[in-house]
Amino acid sequence: MLLKTLREQVLDANLELVRRGLVLYTFGNVSGIDRSSGMVAIKPSGVPYDELTPEQIVVSDLSGKIVDGGLRPSSDLPTHLELYRYFPNIGGVAHTHSEYATSWAQAERPIPCFGTTHADYFYGPVPVTARLTASEIAGDYELVTGTAICRTFADLDPDAIPAVLVAGHAPFCWGASASDAAHNAVILEYVARMACHTVSINTESRPLAPELHDKHFLRKHGRNAYYGQVKSQ
Ligand SMILES: [Zn+2]
Repeated sequence: MLLKTLREQVLDANLELVRRGLVLYTFGNVSGIDRSSGMVAIKPSGVPYDELTPEQIVVSDLSGKIVDGGLRPSSDLPTHLELYRYFPNIGGVAHTHSEYATSWAQAERPIPCFGTTHADYFYGPVPVTARLTASEIAGDYELVTGTAICRTFADLDPDAIPAVLVAGHAPFCWGASASDAAHNAVILEYVARMACHTVSINTESRPLAPELHDKHFLRKHGRNAYYGQVKSQ
């Protein structure tokens, strides 16, 4: 079996979505990439999570050619591949239709940063894409979904904001690995739920002050981060 470890990591990241209550039935998919070979491992299409095995995880190259695996990949594979091609530092992508994040996507509203929980993970509002045009939807829909995400990040740093809301659809999240992407999907849902509650309590709630936003994001990320334990070399 090609890329056994990556497949096991991708399987576990997919199951993490189930453990955290982010997916129903066969909704959602997580992939991971081995950057040295350019191979991507992704959940197969339409297989129930409780039946998934590492052997069923499909391996493709960055052009979408299936390299290993007997099942069809998730139909969202072209979206994942577009993100891997344009965001060079990411190692995993997670897509869910989790309730609150999807609600913001359907409302076509970016998720404002109302608090430090959000600021710890996302350096600014979680953006929402433009709507796809009729011809884009009729064409290579999943690929164009990825292109719309990349366009949304033309002036944003995908390493600092590891999530997006696809208008009328749902979130895509990413991270350094498949498990990191799934983790960000879980956090995004939590942040989206709290943001929804925040605006329902006070429709005039204000975004977090920039200096507090900076403090929280930068103490966890970047050169001068000091949150948590020192990683052994
Ligand atoms: Zn979807």
